Amino acid sequence: MARQARPFLRNSHTILLHSLNPITASIQQAQQAHGHILKTGLSSHTHLTTKLLSLYAHLLRFSDAALLLDSLADPDAFSFSTLISACSKSGLFGQSLCLFRRMLSLGLPPDSFIFPSTLKACAGLSAIDTGRQVHGLAWASGFNSDCFVQSSLVHMYVKCDEMWDAHRVFDGMMEPNVVSWSAMVAGYARQGLVDEAIRLFDRMQDSGVEPNLVSWNGLISGFNHNRHSSESVAVLKKMHMQGFKPDETSISSVLPAVGDLEDLATGKQIHGYVIKQGYGSDACVVSALVDMYGKCQCTTEMLQLFDEMVGIDVGSCNALVAGLSHNGLVDDALRVFRQFKDGGIELNVVSWTSIVASCAQNGKDIEALELFREMQLVGVKPNLVTIPCLLPACANIAALIHGKAVHGFSLRRVILDDVYIGSALIDMYAKCGRIGDAQRVFDGMPSRNVVSWNAIMGGYAMHGKGKEAMELFSLMEQSGQKPDFISFTCVLSACSQTGLTEEGFRYFNNMSREYGIMARMEHYACMVSLLSRAGKLEEASAMIKEMPFEPDACIWGALLSSCRVHGNVSLGEKAAESLFKLEPRNAGNYVLLSNIYAAKGMWDGVDRVREMMKCMGLRKNPGCSWIEMKNKVHTLLAGDTSHPQMTQILERLGRLNMEMKKLGYLPNTNFVLQDVEEQEKEHILCRHSEKLAIGLGLLNTPPRSPLRVIKNLRICGDCHVAIKFISSFEEREIFVRDTNRFHHFKNGVCSCGDYW
Ligand code: ZN
Ligand code: ZN
Repeated sequence: MARQARPFLRNSHTILLHSLNPITASIQQAQQAHGHILKTGLSSHTHLTTKLLSLYAHLLRFSDAALLLDSLADPDAFSFSTLISACSKSGLFGQSLCLFRRMLSLGLPPDSFIFPSTLKACAGLSAIDTGRQVHGLAWASGFNSDCFVQSSLVHMYVKCDEMWDAHRVFDGMMEPNVVSWSAMVAGYARQGLVDEAIRLFDRMQDSGVEPNLVSWNGLISGFNHNRHSSESVAVLKKMHMQGFKPDETSISSVLPAVGDLEDLATGKQIHGYVIKQGYGSDACVVSALVDMYGKCQCTTEMLQLFDEMVGIDVGSCNALVAGLSHNGLVDDALRVFRQFKDGGIELNVVSWTSIVASCAQNGKDIEALELFREMQLVGVKPNLVTIPCLLPACANIAALIHGKAVHGFSLRRVILDDVYIGSALIDMYAKCGRIGDAQRVFDGMPSRNVVSWNAIMGGYAMHGKGKEAMELFSLMEQSGQKPDFISFTCVLSACSQTGLTEEGFRYFNNMSREYGIMARMEHYACMVSLLSRAGKLEEASAMIKEMPFEPDACIWGALLSSCRVHGNVSLGEKAAESLFKLEPRNAGNYVLLSNIYAAKGMWDGVDRVREMMKCMGLRKNPGCSWIEMKNKVHTLLAGDTSHPQMTQILERLGRLNMEMKKLGYLPNTNFVLQDVEEQEKEHILCRHSEKLAIGLGLLNTPPRSPLRVIKNLRICGDCHVAIKFISSFEEREIFVRDTNRFHHFKNGVCSCGDYW
């Protein structure tokens, strides 16, 4: 044994060196060599240890490498340099910087090789302060005119969006190479400085430096990043014309821009090019094509492309779901999403967020909430984008418990400081009837923008609290935040909900005079409803005539509903006539006109409207209400009998009806469209969805606890009377949000003062 070992020891140096060939060596060989070095004390052999270090780095065994480095009696700069460069190459930027600091603390002077790897790490971490220190050190060590150091500095500054510093270093370069030129061009393009980027690109060519694929792609994706879509497409065309062959990166960078421009012709040309070049197997290219067809509303082409795909990845799935949602095909989006999920495709936070958003934006609020729950069950963590997508769904159906859960979730993840999440929370609490909670979120926001101010003012407007909205408006002005057109919509609608006619006019006039904001359709709609709610129907009608543009359905709708409240038949007929032209298939308008006739006992008018509806095959939009109980949202439809507790609900409502009659309340049968017997009318009134929801709430919640109901239509007058009674008889606070506003019933009165 001993005799055999001796020649090995003697020659061990050479043999070891040989075994450390980075191309052929395995991890086992490296570790054997490491053990041997430790045992035999060869660790003072710098050449050998450096070789092993670089082998470890090559094999991505960074912890072993660090152990080896620690065991060296006095490591040299080269050992550090080897490891720093390997770490930066593998994206371990934090480790690179740690090693760099350790090297400096050992008093080892950095060489010109270390700076590029260290600067790469600074760029990777966007650590601009450290980057500047390294720059200073390079200058002090006399390496600031080394072309590799310079080009790394340019790259680092560009990556940190410090174009001024980047340009300064760039100008000091003797002969910048194509890499530095490209970095500068891409930097300007990413910042949306179109002219600068193009001028620099031309200068590069003038100075005799041929642009390469990286230069072109930097321009294309930079412009696209900044939504300079036409510039992005123009660069691709120019590139093609100058004889450069766009590669997969060029194609997948330009397609989003083509989609944004809805330039189908160019999109199809690019698709043809993709087929010709054989790029069809590149996952990024195919997802980008799917996305482009989706944005161009070509769902057939999109689906066909997807079906022909060889390997489906999560990127293309996301593009397909987004494309379907974008074209309003939410049901299809949901179906394919389920297929992907069940098919074992690993869906990520982008996939889940996009389907949650798509449901929330298309009135599928309950589905959005369920998907959110499912997403957490499968262990996908929501991000900053998911939360603001979800909160509107909670708000729409007043799912306060769900909304609070999302709020709690944001608190735990410390993402509450995000101004958009804060604003979405304000909106959610306001729409769930909790204006106090909305105000608390608003007060706790570390910074606010116009969206947050609008959210809280809109909240007060919805609750009919005009004074509070006006106070907030002046607070906003005092804080230096400039109001935008939505701020004015909020404050004007607050004035109109509360009947503050004079104040409303003041805001309306100041809007253009002081803020240079031209009145839009929604502002006129607020003014028309402000006037007509106050009973000034003729003035409202005059305002419609004087408007600088054709009034839309919102304007006529505001007039028509006020005509119902004030019983004005002739103006009501005029408004209805315009509405029938603008939205011939909206049953709600016919019902409103019919209600006006019914209230005046003009039954021939009622018949005529019913005949019109019948001719057009229109049916009254079924009333629908939601109530959240025990963490579940229940949906009730008018006249629905399918709910398992329906018998008890009707019995409870019937008993309340008797009590009401004893106290002299009369059911207001004007609100029944059908011309039926009085007894039967009363029966129909009992089955309005908001009453059913309240009945369900009374049955299933503790006595005297508040109830929150949302209705998809305007609350009916009879239900309004009945709910006022219920609030005092049952001693409950009842919140009903209809399409227009909030009604807060307490002790037999409503916050709207019967003015809605
Ligand atoms: Zn009703
Ligand atoms: Zn009310």
